[in-house]
Amino acid sequence: MTHPIVEALQRNEAQFIELRRHFHQHPEIGFEEQQTSQRVAELLQQWGYDVHRGMAKTGVVGTLKVGNGSKRLGLRADMDALPMQEDSGKAWSSTVAGKFHGCGHDGHTTTLLYAAEYLARTRNFNGTLHLIFQPAEELLYGGRVMVEDGLFDTFPCDHIFGLHNMPGQKLGKIGLRDGAMMASSDTLHIEVNGVGGHGALPEHTVDATLVACHITLALQSIVSRNITPFEPAVVTVGSIQAGHAPNIINEKVLMKLTVRTLNEKVRQTVLQRIHDIAVAQAESFNATATIRHINGSPVLTNNPAANEMVRTVAQDLFGQDAVATVGAFMGSEDFAFMLEKNPDGCYFTIGAGDEADRCMVHNPGYDFNDKILLTGAALWSALTEHYLR
Ligand SMILES: [Zn+2]
Ligand SMILES: [Zn+2]
Repeated sequence: MTHPIVEALQRNEAQFIELRRHFHQHPEIGFEEQQTSQRVAELLQQWGYDVHRGMAKTGVVGTLKVGNGSKRLGLRADMDALPMQEDSGKAWSSTVAGKFHGCGHDGHTTTLLYAAEYLARTRNFNGTLHLIFQPAEELLYGGRVMVEDGLFDTFPCDHIFGLHNMPGQKLGKIGLRDGAMMASSDTLHIEVNGVGGHGALPEHTVDATLVACHITLALQSIVSRNITPFEPAVVTVGSIQAGHAPNIINEKVLMKLTVRTLNEKVRQTVLQRIHDIAVAQAESFNATATIRHINGSPVLTNNPAANEMVRTVAQDLFGQDAVATVGAFMGSEDFAFMLEKNPDGCYFTIGAGDEADRCMVHNPGYDFNDKILLTGAALWSALTEHYLR
């Protein structure tokens, strides 16, 4: 038997598929989500929400208070696209060169709006609902800026939830994980300074390129020698910018690193070791290394009780098989900043389908699967009615 919420949502599914494709055609990247947030705000206002704009530049919060219940629930979606070219061949492909909803945030925004419309129309709950639309998730700090701008001071939430679509996961299956689910992410720059000179007269120089190579090799000892094999960690030197001619010994090198972990203590150990190794290696060659921490986001940690709530609601909507336990993922997600500030909550995935030809997020051929708009909207709606009953 179809659940009444699913039945109610089915009636206007076409309207929200159209809205999702509209957002897809008009992608905007981090902190530039002007048109998207304008549309989100207009719709929320039209449905009777109190709308707050301008948090983290383009963030939108829609609030709906029903009855006299004291509980406050926060549901969050991200609105930004990626700076990449789409090649999905879809009729609703991006109309903006070099910008593309390649992670499905068009779908996440639409999913939350889809639920917003249902919840405002039916008002079948008792308490305060905050719908949080954040910018710049792909930059991994839109969520942080929302929190710094006072998100939870202005809109206190007792529980918060976020979701992401997941290609490769069975269609509509809800993926849950207790505790650490997504990795911390830190971007570091290391500047190595030596003494430049003629390529044939090395005795007068301190070769910054050679020093950077030694640092790169030494950094790879951190995960293997300083971290227990039971804790995952990644140290990647993704960029080394050094010199341009064969006969010049280079005096300056810029190295760019990303660091991922699933444990805050491991994260701090890795960051400290990177600093110590880079400085000591450089010193051993009479060079210097300066380390700059460009940005970082914490480990995303789910509250098991919040996960249990999602599990109960999903199984009630879609049956016992609706949920699965998923593995941790070394990718990162800036909803982690919201969970860090407000740990009573969780983040889960919705399977976008496991067909062999389904593209992963951030692939030029990716497109959000419209079939799970209803799944997500039903889940947000049922979660609201369950938590704010
Ligand atoms: Zn992404
Ligand atoms: Zn994403």
